[in-house]
Amino acid sequence: MRVLQYNLQIKDTPHMEPERIAEDTSYLKANVVVLNVGGIYAWYQSKVLYHHINEYLPAGRDLLQELIAAFHARGIKFIARFDFSVAEDTTYLYKPEWFARDINNNPYYRGEKRMGNWSLLLDTCSLGGYRNKEVAVPVLQEVLRKYDIDGVFLNAPHARECHCSRCRALYKKTYNVEMPDNAAYFDPEWLSKCMKINIGNMYKAIKEIRTDVPLVLYYAPFSGMSKSFGRIDRDNLYDRYATADLICTESQDVLSRGINNLPMDIHPLIAMKAGELPGCSKRPFGIIHSCPGMDWRHVGMPPAEYLPWMAQVPASNGIIWHSVTGFCETITDKRILESIRDIDSRIQNVESDMRDAFSFCDTALLWNGSKNAVGWAEMLVKNHIQFDLIQDYIAGDIALSNYRLLVIPGDFIITTEFIEKLSDYMSSGGKVIFEGTDTETLSKYKELFGIEGDVVSSENLVASYLRFEDEGEGLADGIDSDKIELRGKVSYCNLESDNQILMTLIPPFAPYEAVGIPPERASLPVENTTIPMAFRKNIGRGSISVLIFPVSSLFMEYGLSDHLRLIGNLVNNILGDNLRLRISAPADVYTEAYQKDNKVVIHFINEMGKRPLIDNVPVHDIMIRLRIDGKNVNGVESIIENSSPSYYVDDGCLVIKLPRLKIWDAIRITF
Ligand SMILES: [Zn+2]
Repeated sequence: MRVLQYNLQIKDTPHMEPERIAEDTSYLKANVVVLNVGGIYAWYQSKVLYHHINEYLPAGRDLLQELIAAFHARGIKFIARFDFSVAEDTTYLYKPEWFARDINNNPYYRGEKRMGNWSLLLDTCSLGGYRNKEVAVPVLQEVLRKYDIDGVFLNAPHARECHCSRCRALYKKTYNVEMPDNAAYFDPEWLSKCMKINIGNMYKAIKEIRTDVPLVLYYAPFSGMSKSFGRIDRDNLYDRYATADLICTESQDVLSRGINNLPMDIHPLIAMKAGELPGCSKRPFGIIHSCPGMDWRHVGMPPAEYLPWMAQVPASNGIIWHSVTGFCETITDKRILESIRDIDSRIQNVESDMRDAFSFCDTALLWNGSKNAVGWAEMLVKNHIQFDLIQDYIAGDIALSNYRLLVIPGDFIITTEFIEKLSDYMSSGGKVIFEGTDTETLSKYKELFGIEGDVVSSENLVASYLRFEDEGEGLADGIDSDKIELRGKVSYCNLESDNQILMTLIPPFAPYEAVGIPPERASLPVENTTIPMAFRKNIGRGSISVLIFPVSSLFMEYGLSDHLRLIGNLVNNILGDNLRLRISAPADVYTEAYQKDNKVVIHFINEMGKRPLIDNVPVHDIMIRLRIDGKNVNGVESIIENSSPSYYVDDGCLVIKLPRLKIWDAIRITF
């Protein structure tokens, strides 16, 4: 699928020509379209009470019917978009019980300061009649009976924090306590539970009429706070799939937040990895808005930033879903249309290779959506180390033996059962990197780590360093220094004698206010200690490498190449020849590898430069070394940018040189 969503503006309705819109959609290479059908506005003559009909619909015609027919005639599937999250103030006057309430029992208004002749919108309660039996259910069933749609998409489906007496009563019944006034203290499952009840009702309503029509539902890959929706909880995918057939997420590149608040570089890539369920062949949709922030929704993202950003979705096995404001004729920024056509054409070149392909990786990152986990994902991506995410809520059920290396971020909560699983994994050869920044965890499982005596947490260290020790061979490769930067909290501990000490602490040479003055006094008072900062313990045929310093937060905060290289070197050092794929390319070339039948496909995305990208600077001579274990290589092709890679076989490895990468390419290796 290549999906294109037109976010229609009601005032454009009179200018909509179905044949023209369908033709333009075809030109942009989309084969699925998403259009407004119901909810805030009905784009057809609805009979459901309180379902507000778009007043600009042409008289005497059925525009929706004509659109669906025009798309179907061109082989384009039609997904109907509904939004039951808000409703008009006139509805509120008759049915105030349908609306969400804040802590003072007042409704939430949307856009009340908006100028012009617009009615006021108010948020609906996820458990109220509007989002359930009284409006949403009959509207969905009316559309399914009347129109030949191919899918249902619910915009803004998450439950908004609501303090209405109905929600309060269910909260009390569920948890046996009063609902907290502050949403930050809600039970972590509560909002998800409300959503599950609400979408469950809609899902059932859809399937009563047509079992073959899929429901596409949002999932939230990260927790956070939103100005529009309040508290947002990272979704458990099983909860979302319980009431949906397909899932999607949004990876907005909100440049309008300013250059100091850009979304993280690898957002679409992580959102797609987080949307995959082990053992499930369904792929998540990645919605990419065409604008540099919704406050600038009528212009396009600069193509140099937009193209590689979008490419992250298909390159990480997601399905692209373009979201634009208006339709081709009303989109006056033509760069948007050219960029969509460009990416869709590139996708066409790889889609047969990507169908049913699975990731080619040796490493898994345990995932809880935290900042530390994001830091690890960034460090792995920028070292071109291929990895899968293992979500915290299924970590106990996953066969770890599929991976040679497991990375555990600092704030990942480890249970005693999981520690047992980890010991078994290592006994049979598994390798673990453990970011041991929590003193309590180090202390609790000190037998596993080979720690002797007490574990004591440090002050907040500044002006201190990590020193490379002889046993940490290779960790300083490409750094050419005996020490690198350290800040933050660590733990002090002593190790059993058979542990290998990889790095030690060089304590602060001065308090922060005195580091520069005077330089005559800058000498290090202590140049080396035996305080371990990184160590390795062999367990059975495997090992655990423990980093006692917060490397993921150091990298996220300072972005220094030293910490990035250290992690790349550490993985090399641990996996050695077992690391099947090594890529030598700048850190901001992102790579994703897949395998299928007798093929390996490796994607390359060029994110080089300071974001937001202003130019796409080509990268030259990317080197790839793939262990082939005696297989015969049939061919190596560049399938998107046609860049003629050269290759030869050396010592059981296929060595490939990709001469040039502009934006997004993929090479296909056939055995
Ligand atoms: Zn409520």
